Amino acid sequence: MKLTRRSFIGTTAAATLAAPYVHAGGHGRPKVVVIGGGAGGATAARYIAKDSKGEIDVTLVEPSRSYYTCFFSNLYLGGFRSLDSIAHSYGTLASAYGINVVHDWAVGIDRDARTVTLAGGTSLNYDRLILSPGIDFVDGSVPGWDVSTQNAMPHAYKAGSQTELLKAQIEAMPQGGTFAMVAPPNPYRCPPGPYERVSMIAHKLKAENPTAKILIVDPKEKFSKQALFEEGWNTNYAGMIERIGPDFGADKVSVDAGAMTVTIDGNVEKVDVCNVIPAMKAGRICEIAGITEGNWAPVNGHTMQSRIDENIHVLGDASAQGDMPKSGFSANSQAKVAAMAVRGALTGSKVFPAKFSNTCWSLIDTDNGVKVGATYQATDEKIAKVDGFVSQTGEDAALRKATYEESIGWYSGITSDMFG
Ligand SMILES: Cc1cc2nc3c(=O)[nH]c(=O)nc-3n(C[C@H](O)[C@H](O)[C@H](O)COP(=O)(O)OP(=O)(O)OC[C@H]3O[C@@H](n4cnc5c(N)ncnc54)[C@H](O)[C@@H]3O)c2cc1C
Repeated sequence: MKLTRRSFIGTTAAATLAAPYVHAGGHGRPKVVVIGGGAGGATAARYIAKDSKGEIDVTLVEPSRSYYTCFFSNLYLGGFRSLDSIAHSYGTLASAYGINVVHDWAVGIDRDARTVTLAGGTSLNYDRLILSPGIDFVDGSVPGWDVSTQNAMPHAYKAGSQTELLKAQIEAMPQGGTFAMVAPPNPYRCPPGPYERVSMIAHKLKAENPTAKILIVDPKEKFSKQALFEEGWNTNYAGMIERIGPDFGADKVSVDAGAMTVTIDGNVEKVDVCNVIPAMKAGRICEIAGITEGNWAPVNGHTMQSRIDENIHVLGDASAQGDMPKSGFSANSQAKVAAMAVRGALTGSKVFPAKFSNTCWSLIDTDNGVKVGATYQATDEKIAKVDGFVSQTGEDAALRKATYEESIGWYSGITSDMFG
């Protein structure tokens, strides 16, 4: 169904065997520094430490002591998960895997000297550097919004206090009020994420504030799992959700956080809560390292090595790798390929051809889960899709429940894979 301005919905190629690496000092263990302890970085650090059995010295740099997964943060908004249940600490990576976990920001990278500078002033040497810093926002992509207005108009696209704030604002909405989402342009982290979020907020509002409205202002013509979401919104949240696409000016949007307005192609809408999800780019440390082209850091899919510096591997959302969506599943899958390549380069261990997979589950309503996924392989040009699958409209309740349960199993599996 094409939605109009005012139509309510509900209306390696072959693996290479690298020669054992002789690192700069020629003595001691080779050193790997990982920047970012999220889906990509935590997985890579754990796999390198675990599989090298102490042969490689691994340091993980991450400012937060608790990592809140963006995955399942929408379920927290919908009331299906607690905030505590999506929080993870780094203790096991340090105690069981011997990883040197440093809670600080990386602020500088000297690629010639192979050193990382931390905000606290420490300097770390590396033989290989892994960057998995996730995303930052493109300045000025939504006029009127910048990080100084993120408390008035939260993005909640890095999970934690922003997600808590957004939920509190939704709970404080007046009866019959309006929640607006300014959706991001492609490419961005988690293609179905904004639309799962709309589903979860609709689920909450239906119970607590049933006359409230949801307005999606979307610069994209179409979006991930669109037919599945629209079917679910029609069935479960009839008349609550309106989506404005670019043909009705949603690519010309600005906000005023003081006045709580969203202006769409000159039309001013007063709203009660506004979730602005700006355009995205690689986490800033990639720019600082000088390994970006445009907004992202290009990599070789065989090893996830930067195409600009072979001593650096870039994982997850920050990388420009080809066909994989920017997701936690993708970052975790890429991390294992990079970990194997790094061990091969530094210790001479065997390296196999790179294979990847991804599935993105979304919850539309209670026990109503849908998914889209694919497998991928590395070519010299990019990570290329091999084959894929997607849930179908009209599936029965038992299948949707099984899909949701599968996502719960995936969540506990990936978080154990990341944090031990
Ligand atoms: C609402 C929402 C729902 C989602 N749902 C799903 C889902 O269901 N399934 C799925 O697979 N994916 C999902 N995702 C996407 C997923 O969260 C990301 O794709 C994934 O986290 C990317 O992993 P990453 O390692 O690239 O970045 P992140 O996991 O964001 O980790 C980056 C880490 O780097 C740290 N960092 C950044 N800069 C520095 C620096 N200079 N120094 C030190 N540390 C630094 C950050 O603190 C952060 O902890 C969702 C995302 C959102 C927003």
